[in-house]
Amino acid sequence: MAIKPKSANPKKAQDPDLLALRPAGLTDIEVVVFKKLLDAVAERRLTPGVRLLEEELVEIFKVSRERIRRILLVLSQNGIIRLEPHKSAYVAFPESSERRDVFESRLLVEGHIVKTLCQFNPARRKKVVSELRDHIEAEQVSVAGAERALQIRLSGEFHLKMANFAGNKVLLKVLHDILVKSSLSLAAHAHQHDLACSMNEHTVLLDAIEKGDAVKAQEILVAHLGTIAEDIAEDIAQANALQRVFT
Ligand SMILES: [Zn+2]
Repeated sequence: MAIKPKSANPKKAQDPDLLALRPAGLTDIEVVVFKKLLDAVAERRLTPGVRLLEEELVEIFKVSRERIRRILLVLSQNGIIRLEPHKSAYVAFPESSERRDVFESRLLVEGHIVKTLCQFNPARRKKVVSELRDHIEAEQVSVAGAERALQIRLSGEFHLKMANFAGNKVLLKVLHDILVKSSLSLAAHAHQHDLACSMNEHTVLLDAIEKGDAVKAQEILVAHLGTIAEDIAEDIAQANALQRVFT
């Protein structure tokens, strides 16, 4: 059964907080430090197992110990670092079982979303697809600029926009929470060339939605999410193997 959005204009249904991927519970100053630490893990300047000392971070970033603790807490909640009971923090080894859970959850939620979009009438499908194609164009501009964090965020937001157009607010919130977590993991653990999403696959998915072909759209979605999961699994295997060899 198709779920109708409450608003005739899909844009009006957008909630800016749910359509932007950023960690909750941090102030602007803390987000700056958070991103610096995340980038250091993503670029392998900080490798799994490295210890992060609170007093050193206080000295380096010139922020209070309380702020550093909040930042470390959010990093640990997102699987980027591991906090030990005696307040030691270490860069985490990625957990392959968690990636599989994320993949399965996304498949369940987004399979329903894609099917809902395919069940819209042709005029509404055309409008939704046209707005999503505009988003892909914005992604292409960001690829030219090659800012990794922005690329990952935009490709995640493509999926959130699909959820928003489908009109189920609860599923939008669920997907948002999954994506915040998985996009941080991607930023931290995926290869430089393996971004969160292939824009070509997004385009092919939109072609199927525009035709209202739910079976084809769901097939493409399975392949698309599967590619992301495989890329990360391969990277996790390499990261863990190297760490064991050299430590
Ligand atoms: Zn994608």
